Amino acid sequence: MDTSKLSKFYRKTLHEKIESLYKAGVITEAEQTLLLEGRLDLPADTGDNMIENYLGNFSLPFGAAMNFVINGQEKVIPMAIEEPSVVAAASFAAKLAGSAGGFETTVTKRDMIGQVTLKGIIDYDGAERAIMNSKQAILDRANEAHPSIVKRGGGARDLEVRQLHDESQVNLPSFLSVHVHVDTQEAMGANIINTMMEGIAPYIEELTGGTALLRILSNYATESLATARCTIPAHTLKTGHFSGEDVRDRIIEATQVATIDPYRAVTHNKGIMNGVDAVVTATGNDWRAVEASVHAFASRSGQYRSLTQWEKNDAGDLVGRLTLPLPIGTVGGAISIHPAAKLAHQMLGHPNAMELSGILATVGLAQNLAAVRALVTDGIQKGHMGLHARSLAISAGAKGPEVQHVADQLKKAPHMNLEAARTILNSLN
Ligand code: NDP
Repeated sequence: MDTSKLSKFYRKTLHEKIESLYKAGVITEAEQTLLLEGRLDLPADTGDNMIENYLGNFSLPFGAAMNFVINGQEKVIPMAIEEPSVVAAASFAAKLAGSAGGFETTVTKRDMIGQVTLKGIIDYDGAERAIMNSKQAILDRANEAHPSIVKRGGGARDLEVRQLHDESQVNLPSFLSVHVHVDTQEAMGANIINTMMEGIAPYIEELTGGTALLRILSNYATESLATARCTIPAHTLKTGHFSGEDVRDRIIEATQVATIDPYRAVTHNKGIMNGVDAVVTATGNDWRAVEASVHAFASRSGQYRSLTQWEKNDAGDLVGRLTLPLPIGTVGGAISIHPAAKLAHQMLGHPNAMELSGILATVGLAQNLAAVRALVTDGIQKGHMGLHARSLAISAGAKGPEVQHVADQLKKAPHMNLEAARTILNSLN
């Protein structure tokens, strides 16, 4: 990738931006044409085959975050998101991290979990023993239920049994849950695992005497963890009257607040998900699965807490880390169908699922750095209001060059709201 073609990307016109992505080698000539002709939308006949009662498409802005260096490789990050400032904030934080070598990621494995949950068990320990004694036979049957994933090098790998006894003390019955760990290769694996769980359930019923109540994957992807790290020299954080060391310490303290206080943690983590969801959506993945998984992980200590950790190292640098459970894939679902999702995978250089997980954790970490840095210094509104002014101008009916004109005047107005935008627009006409 020739990133020199992408310098001052945000200052280019839409046409120039698209052209520079092609010249930098991020997209192909055909994709350049697709973008220039505004043909990223899902074709109607495809949409009609994807959901029931299809009426049309609901579009989101599709953009690119710049400056990312991940494991030594430069990346342009596709993001699909309606919220102003997210793309700019990610690019800003990536630049900060990039000046110190960028981000490092670790993804050691990518297994998904399937659950067969049984009711009506009489002897829980006996049922658990019966399952563990037949572990290999159960794994074999799971693989027989979906042989193509075995041919692709994946398949059911391991199994564990969990007795689910009521700890909430509201007098609920007990259940038994069999967890099968499945290597789903490049797929997120919902359909693979659901087929496997339905395939093994009768055998498990036979072994235990129980009745299978649920046979489905768990979206809690604790066997698919991705970690991103970065180290930021304190002096690069200096802004306004805050020294770099001040900003570093305030970021660490703000994260401590989000570790103690769930009310803050929810907003802190929402900021992380601004970035993660934008890339999950752009790459055609199931964002509900990722959201559910990540927030359960944030509560794994028994309290909902910050997903990121920010600390100071011996050299006084700010060191950040984010680990996320990521039920995602690079094939299946909408990924190979949606034109924008195909483009997003091309922009990322067609990462495999492990690499994509690392990219997602990196974007989450960058987003968190930018948001918390802004919060503990200038406040978040300064960055937000510029684009918010443009959205208000468009809502008021401004078109073409009027948008910037109304937005500029709105920023100076005593109240930035729709009424003020309309008044400014009327004064132009
Ligand atoms: P798909 O079933 O759409 O795609 C997976 C299939 O792709 C595999 O079974 C395999 O089929 C094929 N494939 C091709 N290349 C590879 C490769 N390299 N590695 C692995 N598989 C490959 O998707 P998923 O099973 O991943 O399910 C995801 C979809 O399920 C999403 O649309 C999601 O929204 C939906 N879903 C999600 C649920 C949830 O709880 N999160 C529940 C139900 C559905 P083959 O080998 O036969 O060619």
